[in-house]
This record gives sequence, structure tokens and C-alpha cells, in this order.
Amino acid sequence: MEPILELKNINYAYHTLEGETKALTDISFSIAAGEFVALVGPSGCGKSTLLSIISGLLEPEEGLIKMNGKDWKESTMNIGYMLQHDHLFEWRTVYSNILLGLEIQHMLSAKTRAKANELLELYGLKQFANSKPSELSGGMRQRAALIRTLVLEPDLLLLDEPFSALDYQTRLSVGDDIGQIIRNAHKTALLVTHDLSEAVSLADRVIILTNRPAHISKIVPVTFTLEKDTPLLRRNAPEFKNYFNIIWGELNQNE
Ligand code: ADP
Repeated sequence: MEPILELKNINYAYHTLEGETKALTDISFSIAAGEFVALVGPSGCGKSTLLSIISGLLEPEEGLIKMNGKDWKESTMNIGYMLQHDHLFEWRTVYSNILLGLEIQHMLSAKTRAKANELLELYGLKQFANSKPSELSGGMRQRAALIRTLVLEPDLLLLDEPFSALDYQTRLSVGDDIGQIIRNAHKTALLVTHDLSEAVSLADRVIILTNRPAHISKIVPVTFTLEKDTPLLRRNAPEFKNYFNIIWGELNQNE
């Protein structure tokens, strides 16, 4: 089957008055539909730059991007973006925050509202529909942000450190929770994280980047022999430590 996303020999540099900052060199990888891929690498190596290129916010200087087999400029692929901060507006209720993307894209209809209601119910936020975001816990806020993204039915979800603003304990449960939701919804996702445990517990493959300018040092397929493959059960499985050590070793070798 054709990959949903294909990158070939992507290069990118920022040009400022101070000079050139090379951010990415020769990045090539692809993602299959339904796959959950994590991207790890040292801080400042170019991870967010890569997501910006995939989302079309930045144009690669060299290289090729294909989405569902089409050049990215001709692609109509719907890309959802989830960031570290949930960007929920306090002056809107949870429900109207969730409808925001639909409103902006002129997609509000009885059908899309029904979809929003269905997701609110499915992900346990129905009774908070009329609450203000500040009345929700950190985890619930991230769920609301995810629903706002999912209601747009993205073909590809880009997640840029979406849990890193949460405290450690919340982060563990919210990361597992959101990861599970994305899997159950059979979404294709690319997660940027600096948390190796998060990467191993959520991903089918982990792409390891070098220091800036980033290139791929290794791609590690992650498979667990679990009857039920959940992030929490992965964390307790014997293979977990091995994957963690492989990725940790690779990152340190690049330092
Ligand atoms: P990461 O997400 O891995 O932390 P980024 O992709 O944000 O890294 O940044 C990669 C490099 O590009 C960094 O050295 C950063 O300082 C530089 N950079 C990012 N954005 C800009 C910009 N708008 N102008 C110039 N340099 C930038």
C-alpha cells in the first residue's frame, strides 16, 4: 500500500541576518496509514522544523514530499496539529472550543456538530461541554484539544511535544490515554517527543535524529508480544527496557 506520507532527501536551513542555520539534512522516511511514529532527537536539532515542513508551514529547500502518493503542493490531505499548549480559549466553553476548527474552516453543520457531540461523549467530556477550560484538569484539557483536532477528521496527526507542559504523573496517564485514543481511532500519527519512555510506550517505530543539522541516525521498529497492546502494559513489559536502551544508546552516541 502507498505510504500516507513520504519524505525524500529533505534539506532545510533558516536564513537570518546573522547567517544560515542548517536545520535538516537529507531526511528520508515514510509513514504507512494507521502507523504511529515517534521522532526523537536532541533539543534544537530540527524536530519542530520537520513538522512545520510536513504541515506546509515551511517549504523544504530540497527534497520531495508526497502525501497519499501526490506531491505535497497538490495534496488535499487533511493534517491535524497538536501542540504543547492546548490553546483552549477561556472565553469559550469547552464545546465551542471544540467547534473552533470547524468554524474557521466553514465546516459547521448538523453532521459535524453531531460528530463533536459523539467525541465528547466517547472521551468522557460530555458533562463538561458547557464548562470553561479552566474548570478542567490538565489531562481533560488535552483531551478537549485532541477532540478539537479529531473532529476535523485529519488523515495525519502531527503531535509536537503535546504532553510536555504537564507534570510528570499527569503526563504519564495523559500520554497513555491520548495515545490509546489515537490508536483506537486508527489515526496515523507523528509524535515529536524528548521523552524516550513516551516514544517506546506509544510508537510502532521510533525515528532517531542526530544533533543539528538533523539527519536520521536510526529507525527502530517497536514491537511487543502483548496480548493487549496498551501504553501502560508496554511500560511493564520486559522488552520495554531493551528498546529504551537501544534508543538512549543511539542518542548518546550522536552527542
Ligand atoms: P527542535 O524542535 O528539535 O528543538 P527546532 O526545529 O525548533 O528544533 O530548531 C532547529 C534549529 O533551527 C535550532 O537551532 C533553532 O534555533 C533554529 N531555528 C528554529 N526556528 C528558527 C527561525 N525561525 N529562524 C532561525 N533559526 C531558527
